[in-house]
Amino acid sequence: MSDAALPGTKAGAEALRTESGITYQVIIGCEVHIQLLTKSKAFCGCENRFGGIPNTRVCPVCLGLPGALPVVNGALVEGAIVAGLALGSRIAEVTKFDRKNYVYPDLPKGYQISQFDMPICVGGHLDVASDGRMRRVGITRVHMEEDAGKNLHLADGSNMSYVDFNRCGTPLLEIVSEPDMRSPEEAVAFVESIREIMRYLEISDCNMEEGSLRCDANINLWIYEGAARHATPIVEIKNMNSFRAIRSALSFEAQRQLAEWQARRPTLEAEGKSTRGYNDVTGETFPQRTKEAASDYRYFPEPDLKPIAISRSFVEALRARVGELPEAKRERLKSQYGLADFDAETLVVSKPLSAYFEEAAAGYREPKKIANWILTEVRSVLNDRNIEIDRFPAKPEHIRALLEAVDDGTISGKIAKEVFVEMASSGRAPREIIAAQGLSQIADEADLARIVDRVLAANEKSVADYNAGKDHALKFLMGQVMKESHGKANPIIATRLLKEHLSQ
Ligand SMILES: [Zn+2]
Repeated sequence: MSDAALPGTKAGAEALRTESGITYQVIIGCEVHIQLLTKSKAFCGCENRFGGIPNTRVCPVCLGLPGALPVVNGALVEGAIVAGLALGSRIAEVTKFDRKNYVYPDLPKGYQISQFDMPICVGGHLDVASDGRMRRVGITRVHMEEDAGKNLHLADGSNMSYVDFNRCGTPLLEIVSEPDMRSPEEAVAFVESIREIMRYLEISDCNMEEGSLRCDANINLWIYEGAARHATPIVEIKNMNSFRAIRSALSFEAQRQLAEWQARRPTLEAEGKSTRGYNDVTGETFPQRTKEAASDYRYFPEPDLKPIAISRSFVEALRARVGELPEAKRERLKSQYGLADFDAETLVVSKPLSAYFEEAAAGYREPKKIANWILTEVRSVLNDRNIEIDRFPAKPEHIRALLEAVDDGTISGKIAKEVFVEMASSGRAPREIIAAQGLSQIADEADLARIVDRVLAANEKSVADYNAGKDHALKFLMGQVMKESHGKANPIIATRLLKEHLSQ
């Protein structure tokens, strides 16, 4: 597969590929569903939390019992506005809810409260980096809706299916992109970027395993033949719930559409749009029921909820909640602390981790050293214990104090690692640990001189070797000094004393 320039297009800019003599481009748009971390559900007072004993967090409203009336959760509207502001969307002055009607066992009301023609956020964009190039992906809209319940199919051979309505009414944002992505990798980068931003905004945990971030994607190919451009039928791939699934489903689908084109030249004009599922085990997409057209859903305005007028002062007040977004933070960490690209990127992935770094680095003259400790030593403990930084016992200022203890010669770098192990389990301050365990370096000249003399007396052969010009003997003797001092000799002073005593 190779990139090629088409006459009249910018070389490489649009990621044209040529394969089996066909020049084509992959066209992808995404719909990302985000569950919001509100205390209660979208339209009732039921607790909004993942899991739990099935059908224990339900009420007449989210079960759609006759006569029950929904009330909009203000936190849903606020979350949608904050997300829209972060994506550069226009926030509607007036927005309304609509009913999306369909029948499915996990949807007790027979409709989902969603938004149709007056979504809360319109437009905007997200710049994503993939394979060394940036692409601006347009945001079509962000709208509010409620989640459905969950069908549970038992795999115990009983062939029984159950329905859990706990998830019914969970507040969702659907973020719809323009078809601006040109490779599966760009689609992954887009969804990763959405996840990072929503986590920064603290409106969703975007936990894909628990389904709080789910992605559908539309994909087709543009085939170039001379001056003509043909579009293959659009396929919507539903419910991909890992980055690996997004990448492999879209890669498989692009290849499948290419093979279809070679076999029978189907076009978007003739065949329109269809829906396919993705099998995580085989890595293949498979046909599903035909996608309903919008008219099949019989959208109509939700009669139980009034349209919402959103004042500009309310929007401006929420703008403060957007705060510093990941992209801006990466650039600031690089310029303010002199961090390398990789270090800045790795720290920014987690908002609490980058905050920990900034607290630790405050007032320390070599912030890169702090970043290094956090990204190696601290992170390895977090990984081993499978915890996040907020549960790490050592305070950020203790990391700084540990490095200062090395800088002023109190302990060696080697001992610092021992002190760190203790800090990571007890959370005690490094100076306290050093004092309690007697780990300070021996920097007193008289004390060190006694150790050096003992080593020289016990290693006459090495002394003779050194005097005969064999330099490696010095290294050996220094090793003996460290051993004799239990690793606590100040290496600079000890080396100097060793040389002085050898030449006497
Ligand atoms: Zn409820």
